[in-house]
This record gives sequence, C-alpha cells and structure tokens, in this order.
Amino acid sequence: MIDDSNRGREVVNSGLFSRRSFLAKSSYLGAMYGVAKLLPMPALAAELAEDSRISQTPIVDKGFASVRKIGDGLYATISDPSKGFQTVCNGGFLVGKDGALLIEGFISVAGAAFQMDALRMVSQVPVKGALDTHYHFDHSMGNAFFGANGIPLWAHVNTGKRIIESYGALQGADKAAFLGPLEKAIKDAKTETARKHHEDYLAHVTTVFNVSNSTVLALPNRPIDPAKLPMKVDLGGVTAVIESYPGHSGTDVIVRVPEQNVVYAGDLLFSNMYPVCFDTQATVSGWRQTLKTFASWNKDTLFVPGHGPICGQEGIALSRALFDDIEEQAQKMHKAGVPAAEAADLYAVPEKYKSVAIFAWDFSIGPTITKLYAEWVAK
Ligand SMILES: [Zn+2]
Repeated sequence: MIDDSNRGREVVNSGLFSRRSFLAKSSYLGAMYGVAKLLPMPALAAELAEDSRISQTPIVDKGFASVRKIGDGLYATISDPSKGFQTVCNGGFLVGKDGALLIEGFISVAGAAFQMDALRMVSQVPVKGALDTHYHFDHSMGNAFFGANGIPLWAHVNTGKRIIESYGALQGADKAAFLGPLEKAIKDAKTETARKHHEDYLAHVTTVFNVSNSTVLALPNRPIDPAKLPMKVDLGGVTAVIESYPGHSGTDVIVRVPEQNVVYAGDLLFSNMYPVCFDTQATVSGWRQTLKTFASWNKDTLFVPGHGPICGQEGIALSRALFDDIEEQAQKMHKAGVPAAEAADLYAVPEKYKSVAIFAWDFSIGPTITKLYAEWVAK
C-alpha cells in the first residue's frame, strides 16, 4: 500500500516514481537473483576476438543485453542476466533491402521492444516477422510486443499449445500447492548435494510461476509445420533458412544464413554451459545427433546460441564433449547398479569444465542423466 500522504509528492517527483516502477518490475524477476550463480557473460567467445565478420563494438549495450553486427545485415543480441532480466536469452535480427526478421520474444515485452529499437537504429525496412526458436518462457513471454505492433510471429506448430499448457496453466494457480512437492523434495533430500540441487530447482520454478502470472501470454500466429521445412525467407539480398531439429524442447527451430555461414541456433546450443535437458520432449540422443549435424557444417560457421557467448565450431565441440562426459560417468554408475535418481546428483564436474556454467543442476545435468538411463532401458 502506498501511504496517501506520499502520493502527491510521488507524482511530482518523477525520479521517485520511476524508481518505484523499477522496483515493481524487477521484483517479479527478482527470484532469479536468488539462484543466479550467473557470472557476467562475455558476448563473444575468446576464439572470435579476431573474426572480421563480428563488430567488436556493439551498436547498443544496455548491460542486460548488447547487440552487435556479425555479418552482412546480420545482428546478434547477447544477454547477460547477471545485469538484468529484460531479455535473459539471446536473439538477433536479419536485415535485407526489403524486410527484416526478428529472432526471439525474450522473457519480457521490454526485452522484445529493446531488440526492435536496436533494429531501428540500423534500418527502417518493414519487419516481415518475428520468430520464437521454441516455446520456453525465456524466449516467448515478450510475444505480446509483436501482437501489439502487428508483427506476424512464427514458431514451430506446437509452440502455442505448449505455452498454454506450460505457462497458461500456472495463471491463477495456487502457488503454495504448486510449489509444495518441490519444498517437500528439499526436506526429504538424502544428501546435502541433492538438497542444494533441489533448492536451485525450486528457485527457478518459482521464477517460472511468477513470470507466467505477471505476463499476458501471446501466441504465434504463423505456425511452422516441421514437415514443410526447410523454409526460405527472402529479405532482399539476405536469405534466411528456417530448419527444425530435435533435442531441447520438441519445438526447436533455427535460422540459418548459409551464404554467410551464420546460424541462430536457439537453445539447441548452450555456449560454454551445460545443456538444459529438463523438457519432457528433450531427447539426449536426438540432441547429440543435432550437434553432430552442426559440427558437419562449414568450419568457419558462427553460432548465436540460445544462451552464452557467440561461438564457432569450438562451442559445438564443447557441447558434444559435455554430453560425452555425462554419458561416460552415467554409464559407469549404471553398470555399478546406482539407481537413476541417485546417479542424477552424482556427476562430478571435471577440472577442465569448472568454468562451464550450470544454469541449474536439476534443469541440466540431472535430467540428462535420467534421460540417458531411460534411453538405455528402452534399448
Ligand atoms: Zn529453452
């Protein structure tokens, strides 16, 4: 409640007012601060410092995200959630003579608007459309921006359905009842490690709940049928190719620019991070096959990942090596008779991967192990 005696002063004191609205806005994403072992993220992998396609100076840098040129008419938006939660995921845009394509709805309308403003700094061409690379909340909660601005929104045909099932279902739900089982899992944890993993998980799920409840959901109106891909989008001198691959969410599409060896990979690539594998439709074998395909592309390919710094083929190699290492350790535990639920907490991060970020154990390493076990049992 705002004290009435302060109201007049508040209205005239716009400084105070804007600070207040900042606090209101940041509080719903504030839960993420609790979990954020999110170190400041560089926008570029060190290997790319000399790549002439990439502008070393961003066209705009707001801390929470920066935008830089990475090719002819190609731009990458790279987020740094340690500095704010307007965007959270990476994205980008493609600009030709006739039109532009925006990639990602981000975690908030403010994030989607930020990227649109960046596009308008470099071009006034009409926006042909925007694209969600998949349905996850950090890529789609800003979709209302596109609706409000008459921008067609493309996504995998199942994206709208999964936004409603996953986030619409949380709107108006009883928070305590929803989070209760997760709190119980923390209490019942048999080891200190398991307890810590469950606490991180609870913090992230709480964020998903809060963001879902504070967002007016907006759904893509240009469903993409994966059976009809690849699809070419001619922007005038820049041709985007939309393709779909399995792995992260069951709704993953990427944007490729083969003429320039640039790929906007969405969350099929976590750069310098352990892959996030929690989704019911995530598939470890499918994802590894997808990464193998990415690795077969030109050695000078630039990848804009869903999270983490822009990278080249070394980023794909690291992602594959992380899957290999998790499999190797899980295989040993499986052979030794360790049950899946226990094995999920027992992976040891090798010294050489200590600088690789972990978004949250129970969203990434844990489910990768339980899914591997399930794949072995199914064989
Ligand atoms: Zn995702």
